Amino acid sequence: MNDAVETTRKKDWINIVFFTLTPIIGVVGTALYTWHVGFHWWMAALFLVLYAFAGVSITAGYHRFFSHKSYECSPVVQAFFAFFGAFAAQQSILWWSSGHRIHHKEVDTDWDPYSISRGFWWAHILWLFYKSPKNGFTNVPDLERNRIVAWQQRWHRQIMILGGFGIPTAIGWMFGDPIAGLLWGGFTRLVVLHQTTFFVNSLAHTLGQQTFDHEVSARDNWLVALVTFGEGYHSFHHRFPADFRNGIRWYQWDPSKWLIRSLRFTGLASNLRSITPPMVEQARLQAALLTIETRIASASPTLKEEVQRRIASARESLEHSFALWRQHTEERAAGLSDRWRQTRRSAKLRLKQARREWRSAIRMLSQAPNLA
Ligand SMILES: [Zn+2]
Ligand SMILES: [Zn+2]
Repeated sequence: MNDAVETTRKKDWINIVFFTLTPIIGVVGTALYTWHVGFHWWMAALFLVLYAFAGVSITAGYHRFFSHKSYECSPVVQAFFAFFGAFAAQQSILWWSSGHRIHHKEVDTDWDPYSISRGFWWAHILWLFYKSPKNGFTNVPDLERNRIVAWQQRWHRQIMILGGFGIPTAIGWMFGDPIAGLLWGGFTRLVVLHQTTFFVNSLAHTLGQQTFDHEVSARDNWLVALVTFGEGYHSFHHRFPADFRNGIRWYQWDPSKWLIRSLRFTGLASNLRSITPPMVEQARLQAALLTIETRIASASPTLKEEVQRRIASARESLEHSFALWRQHTEERAAGLSDRWRQTRRSAKLRLKQARREWRSAIRMLSQAPNLA
């Protein structure tokens, strides 16, 4: 980081104490206490329910709705995200979204608040130990106009304390043990949610495949997706941040996406934004080609010719698929229900063909003896 940025950063002692004490209480404290009083099913249930409520409020709410506007949703849903999002102790929607939009715009540079280029632990947690530079929230004018966001900006600390710690204590009290409620539903839930969320900024920028963009550190990491309600498919997300999905395949774990789709089904969400399959494939192809550029250049003339021929053919199939996809959306808009399904099927077949072609080109190259 350059000096101009460094000198403006002062240590944030409240955060340092908070992020040091909460794991000690949430891990060691909960373990010792449970060892003494015994474990009951309601403690796990309380942990899981609040973990899920606060978790999806960060992923489907703070992240995909407020920061990226990847879909629209009713004020009831927004209020849910604002309320339970505050339980996660990740500051307000306004602060979170402003920093996150900078992360996308300036990714991997000095201006990225949790830049992985400053190291794994900086991106994971150390960046929170310093006061963030004041930017006046200039990049979130849309959110400043939102009344629910403004309300949450005023009350998020009170909601975090009274809701995030008070509610589990009260529920614990109903089961006869307020301290167990506070520990499992308050501290342990908070600490697990903190660390798993932080994995998106650290692990998903370090380990995994750069499937969709080789020039950005973001990676697709299914393990991170598993513990963050689907946020681990981070290469896709950085390439297409306005898409409401992070995992695009049916078998990829993305409960935030499933939640958003269910909200649409019940009429509580609309205008879900997503990238078309040909665009996804094009990004994948571009990223893959970038990795083999030097190998193509150093290949033997005959191999080079064959590889280039296959790539050209893949591009042609992709172009075909784009045209068919456009045709399918037009047919769909015109209500030609028997036709558009058929056209979409043909578009997808072309895509598969394109993928087979460029993958075979890459395979040829990797199997050939390296002449470089
Ligand atoms: Zn990122
Ligand atoms: Zn994002």
